[in-house]
Amino acid sequence: MSFAEVKGRIHSFESFGTLDGPGIRFVVFLQGCFLRCKYCHNPDSWAINGGTEMSVGEIVAKIESCRNFLRNGGVTLSGGEPLLQSEFTHALIEECHKANFHVAIDTAGSVPLEKSKKVLDSADLILLDIKSLDNELCKNLTAFGNENELATLDYCESINRDVWIRHVLVPEFTLQKERLEELAEFLSHYSCVKRIDLLPLHKMGEYKWRELGLHDELANINEPTAAEIEMAEKIIRSYRK
Ligand code: SF4
Repeated sequence: MSFAEVKGRIHSFESFGTLDGPGIRFVVFLQGCFLRCKYCHNPDSWAINGGTEMSVGEIVAKIESCRNFLRNGGVTLSGGEPLLQSEFTHALIEECHKANFHVAIDTAGSVPLEKSKKVLDSADLILLDIKSLDNELCKNLTAFGNENELATLDYCESINRDVWIRHVLVPEFTLQKERLEELAEFLSHYSCVKRIDLLPLHKMGEYKWRELGLHDELANINEPTAAEIEMAEKIIRSYRK
């Protein structure tokens, strides 16, 4: 079977993404995620068998129709967890490369390396969501520990793959001075980390939790204030060379 014929499950598309890597991006949201992040704004992307089945060839044809916008950007494969459908994601990267698109993966690194390496090897840039360095807090926030995400970061360092870290600021959970200092110090040892983006908790996905009948444990947690965000950014900046 050729790469173009490989099929996978897609949640949705965004043809003009500006927050998902360098330049303007065509974002493919892949279906399926094992994590259960308390702040997920796409819980409808969790079910492995949800979404729509499409072939790599069909998706690349959609991307091609936006090529003029993507000249200084490219394609970002997001989710859900794009490493979960690793064969499909790998095939999609190869076909995008054949068409000369830069490809970023937006991942929580939640998949063991033996399954994800091929994708990490072939992508141009990894947007890696670090949930928490504290394994217990990570389990509390996502229902899983942080072993795979930290192993993903180590692997990216070993192959010299550029990484942009993303970290969600959740008041009463991750938005704490000591935790942020620990994270900033930890990341300062990785030469593959080219950028750190702090993502303040936002409540735009709350309605999806209600629609799906899910219990929203962060319902009483407010979004961070401007002063809290500035404090967090200052800490991260102070450790960047
Ligand atoms: S990793 Fe992303 S898609 Fe999966 S539960 Fe967490 S926020 Fe949602």
